[in-house]
Amino acid sequence: MSKFDLNRLLRPNIKSLKPYSSARTEFKGQANILLDANESPYNEPYNRYPDPFQSKLKARLSELKSIPSENLFVGNGSDEIIDLLIRAFCIPGKDKILTFTPSYTMYITSAEINDVEVVELPLTSDFNLPLDEITRLSSDPSVKIIFICSPNNPVGNLVPRSEIEKICQSFQGLVVLDEAYADFSSEGSLTSLIGKYPNLCLIQTLSKAYGMAGLRLGVGYASEELIGVLNKIKPPYNVSQATQDLVLERLKNAELVEQQIRQLLTQREILFKFLQESSLFARVFPSQANFILVQTKYFRELYDYLCERGVVVRIRDIQPLLNQGLRFTVGSSEENVVLMKHITEFQTLKT
Ligand SMILES: *Cc1c(COP(=O)(O)O)cnc(C)c1O
Repeated sequence: MSKFDLNRLLRPNIKSLKPYSSARTEFKGQANILLDANESPYNEPYNRYPDPFQSKLKARLSELKSIPSENLFVGNGSDEIIDLLIRAFCIPGKDKILTFTPSYTMYITSAEINDVEVVELPLTSDFNLPLDEITRLSSDPSVKIIFICSPNNPVGNLVPRSEIEKICQSFQGLVVLDEAYADFSSEGSLTSLIGKYPNLCLIQTLSKAYGMAGLRLGVGYASEELIGVLNKIKPPYNVSQATQDLVLERLKNAELVEQQIRQLLTQREILFKFLQESSLFARVFPSQANFILVQTKYFRELYDYLCERGVVVRIRDIQPLLNQGLRFTVGSSEENVVLMKHITEFQTLKT
């Protein structure tokens, strides 16, 4: 079992940091007149700074995800959480993160902004984690964080739970599992592992299955100790009052969200079958997420053809592992019909 010591892993300046203390943190009580934060008395309720620790929102998320509030962090999108984790643990110019290709590239961008070196390992030819190489790098003390995405963007496949556990056991640093698409997967989330592995941090987002990309809300799940570190270094008011209110409103009706997810899963099935039956695609990847990746020699032509008809998809031509890739987000049934109609017309031109 890992000899994980959070304090030893932290950057020394973060360990000794005395956090900024905001007006809303210092005063805890009921008051009729708030003259402590230089706010305006006009334009209620948005004249007031939001709750810096988002307690109502976390209480609801805690109930929904069956995990104590103390193990939750919310950020301005999960991209903020990725950045905070790198800043907490990686000394610029010295430490490294480990990530994989093809995968979500924000880990790399965030590390590079922070002048943190990236070790980028290719996935195996069947797009699984290169476990032996991970083991080899596990004892390098300069590798502070491993970023794993499951279901993986842009491929759509899952990392088995047993592999995540094995990595948590052998790696001396922090294991970050990005579950942005877990709501679409047959396996669901691995939140139940949070109590078991102190070096595991899960991140989820309300941008995909929950339909709130415009509000910016990411959720982190980790030990109380790690959540404490994130709370200490985050911008005091990182989640706006409008976001807190609107997310809470949406989360009142969890049944509606679940119904929408089921509709997207039905559409994924329809789109997958259609793509598989088309002669245009050399490969169509089974997906546990709300997108489907294909490979086709026509990737650029088809991309342009769809763009000219007002349908935007994403080219994922990531050398050397994933050449000629196109990624289709699963939309509504109406959107899907239009997409499939254009692809059929394109196919007629080609054959
Ligand atoms: C879309 C996506 C995110 C972005 O999350 P935000 O909460 O919108 O910042 C994070 N991780 C992966 C793998 C994604 O595909």
